Amino acid sequence: MFCPKCGKINPDDGKICTGCGAALEENNTVEKKPKKGLGKIIGILVAAVLIVAVCFLTINLTGCAPQEYDGEDIEIVNF
Ligand SMILES: [Zn+2]
Repeated sequence: MFCPKCGKINPDDGKICTGCGAALEENNTVEKKPKKGLGKIIGILVAAVLIVAVCFLTINLTGCAPQEYDGEDIEIVNF
């Protein structure tokens, strides 16, 4: 495996980098955390987009109804 700190090639069994002495096992655990957090962020983003889309559609649908009533008001003004 490559050392994430110095980029030196180390044996897969190696727990410590032969170049800089960084713990290779610890870096593996650190690598897992951002992936999990990224998935969570994407899930929250998808949920937020869905909620906004539903709200937008609902506002558009309810926004159309009063406009029809405005048309009736105009008829009364012409009368
Ligand atoms: Zn290293």
